[in-house]
Amino acid sequence: MTSKLYTSLRQLFGDRVRLDEPLSRHTSFRIGGPADAWMEVESEDELWQLQKMSADEGVRLFVMGIGTNVLVSDRGVRGLVVKLGRSLGVLEWSEGERGMRAHAGAAAPFKKLVMDAANRGLTGLEFAEGIPGSIGGGLLMNAGAFGGEMSDVVDAVHGVEPAGGPRRYGREELSFGYRRFDLPSGLVITAVDFLLAPGDESAIRDQMADAKRRRDAKQPLGFPNAGSIFKNPPGEYAGILIEKVGLKGRRIGGAMVSEQHANFIVNVDRAMATDVKTLMDQIVDAVWQDRQVRLVPEIRLVGDWEAAS
Ligand SMILES: Cc1cc2nc3c(=O)[nH]c(=O)nc-3n(C[C@H](O)[C@H](O)[C@H](O)COP(=O)(O)OP(=O)(O)OC[C@H]3O[C@@H](n4cnc5c(N)ncnc54)[C@H](O)[C@@H]3O)c2cc1C
Repeated sequence: MTSKLYTSLRQLFGDRVRLDEPLSRHTSFRIGGPADAWMEVESEDELWQLQKMSADEGVRLFVMGIGTNVLVSDRGVRGLVVKLGRSLGVLEWSEGERGMRAHAGAAAPFKKLVMDAANRGLTGLEFAEGIPGSIGGGLLMNAGAFGGEMSDVVDAVHGVEPAGGPRRYGREELSFGYRRFDLPSGLVITAVDFLLAPGDESAIRDQMADAKRRRDAKQPLGFPNAGSIFKNPPGEYAGILIEKVGLKGRRIGGAMVSEQHANFIVNVDRAMATDVKTLMDQIVDAVWQDRQVRLVPEIRLVGDWEAAS
């Protein structure tokens, strides 16, 4: 972060800009070093202003959702970390020709959309019962479970680009894969439009209850974590591959491969990011030796990793 940028940010936004903000406060893993600078933005205009100022100074801008799918380096993040504030988390419903449309601010918790849809008897999001995180993070990850994923019901994406400002991408312009959304360069997502169809309310609630039961039965509760660490390779489950190489319960520092679900690493006692990363490397090596399958992280490694190694 250049001191010129920091001075300008302070002049414009006062103490809303925080220096050396510990990112462990903003991640579900409770792990992560400091961001050089941190700010919550409350409008697309503010966001665009920050994007332009960072670009002018050659400073990286990183956007954070609710932090449930990231492993932030112990050295933290160089540059400016932006989180979308409450004003960018509003949920609006309208009836259209093709079904009910939800316009969901990217800062809104995904679970709010899922609950609201169920309360309105709308089907399409039952799979997402229990997925934590924000709408923006969910879209970026194409979050999914039990055979469904966010892209099934997305109709348009709104965001702000450093060069062009606010813009909308229609469904036909979007490209998704397994836990992947091809984010147009530099876009920060500010809202997503979903199309949902009317359904049978009790069937919707049954499916959600079933998803919750299955989730509660297999996921570790009680210790901070970031959900599944690795993507499932085609036709396989990462958890089963890891279990087979005997790594359940393996502990490094304060991080441990969950005894309950081998594709979860849990922070059992003030784990460092390097503890988690070392466990991840050991898992990748062991599964490769055993099956010649290369596990790919689902979680995003964020921040200053090169310097840490
Ligand atoms: C207990 C637990 C269970 C989970 N279960 C599931 C599951 O069943 N299925 C599943 O898919 N995931 C699951 N996850 C992972 C996680 O909840 C999802 O990936 C979630 O959608 C991430 O949202 P987030 O707001 O926390 O994103 P973050 O973790 O904050 O960010 C993830 C990525 O999205 C980017 N991003 C965030 N917001 C924006 C934005 N507005 N514009 C552009 N980029 C953005 C970030 O830069 C980062 O690269 C689980 C996590 C936990 C802790």
